[in-house]
Amino acid sequence: MPTLVMKFGGTSVANLDRIARAAKRIAVEVANGYDVIVIVSAMSGKTNELVGWVAETSPLYDAREYDAIVSSGENVTAGLMALRLQEMDIPARSWQGWQVPVKTTSAHSSARIEEIPTDNIHAKFGEGMKVAVVAGFQGISPEGRITTLGRGGSDTTAVAFAAAFGAERCDIYTDVDGVYTTDPRIASKARKLDKIAYEEMLELASLGAKVLQTRSVELAMRYKVRLRVLSSFEEPSDSAGTLVCDEEDIMESNVVAGVAYSRDEAKMTLISVADRPGIAAAIFGPLSDAGVNVDMIVQNISEEGRTDMTFSCPTDQVLRAEKAMNDAKEKGEINFHDLVADEGVAKVSVVGIGMRSHTGVAAKMFRVLSAEGINIKVITTSEIKISVLVDRKYMELAVQALHDAFELEKAG
Ligand code: ASP
Ligand code: MG
Repeated sequence: MPTLVMKFGGTSVANLDRIARAAKRIAVEVANGYDVIVIVSAMSGKTNELVGWVAETSPLYDAREYDAIVSSGENVTAGLMALRLQEMDIPARSWQGWQVPVKTTSAHSSARIEEIPTDNIHAKFGEGMKVAVVAGFQGISPEGRITTLGRGGSDTTAVAFAAAFGAERCDIYTDVDGVYTTDPRIASKARKLDKIAYEEMLELASLGAKVLQTRSVELAMRYKVRLRVLSSFEEPSDSAGTLVCDEEDIMESNVVAGVAYSRDEAKMTLISVADRPGIAAAIFGPLSDAGVNVDMIVQNISEEGRTDMTFSCPTDQVLRAEKAMNDAKEKGEINFHDLVADEGVAKVSVVGIGMRSHTGVAAKMFRVLSAEGINIKVITTSEIKISVLVDRKYMELAVQALHDAFELEKAG
């Protein structure tokens, strides 16, 4: 029997009615002849509530207990979904991560999946079970403790199962009907894409598009899992949603596939650091040890042996970054005059594999922003993306202007 993986996000299992609705979808695929592996999230809002309880009980919590608590929302939906399917006379069984077992690293709250043995679930399919309902987001560490895969991690569970079981496809059911050229709440002309290449989706996800966890796209790309994003609230059809696939499977596409944004960025500048070999290592080593996710980096020209160093990081890591820099200064590892944090910036990016073969995208992007009077604070580029930091109050304007200028409302 061919295998299909179907993942239902929090809004698609938000209450018993929605679980029943999802179960009907699953029944259709069972009738189509698939052995179905269903991955479920917690009911929407549940994980946030659990995270809140942890923080309230113990601000500097033990991450092992965080995982024990925060993983529990998925257990409830997995059991309820199995019961619902049984009520429809579909042989179904639920599995928590440790029962499969989904073997992960021991990096609690951001564990990575290392192995998913398939024998347990295969044996059950062999005995006539039709649907394995697996709690997403969770696994078990080498020490035998429960782990979680980071927020949004059920997407990654789904793709990892699709890869392990050689599934024909991995359908991600969510509350939007696919991947858009940008956020339709910001640009009303945003267009749903029928297909998007893995590389583009990876950039969009890591640059702020929240529709898929970045790690899940990485895995899909590595194992060539055909990934489809679609809404559980609309009638299904073969052309529904967006297919995330190899670029060779896309006939026509725009040079720019989409515009992404991320609101919660901060720009930090170390003023007047000694410009000497090893200075970047002396700055970014302690930041990385402190768990600061540095994104963009700019080193200014040096004058009389001193320079300014600018980097960006998420706003909620500013305190940690400041502490790491001040500690390093006290220890004499670095020396700077001042550290200036600008917490009012946002990152706007254009992404497209067409940039590999087309020149002028960056120039056009800068022209468009300048015509709107938007000042660019930091720029970074890769082969298929250009990102800029701008004042947060101009973020929506920048997204709209770029969407218009690259005519993303039109299919390529
Ligand atoms: N329930 C978890 C979260 O809210 C995992 C997921 O839904 O993907 O992050
Ligand atoms: Mg999600």
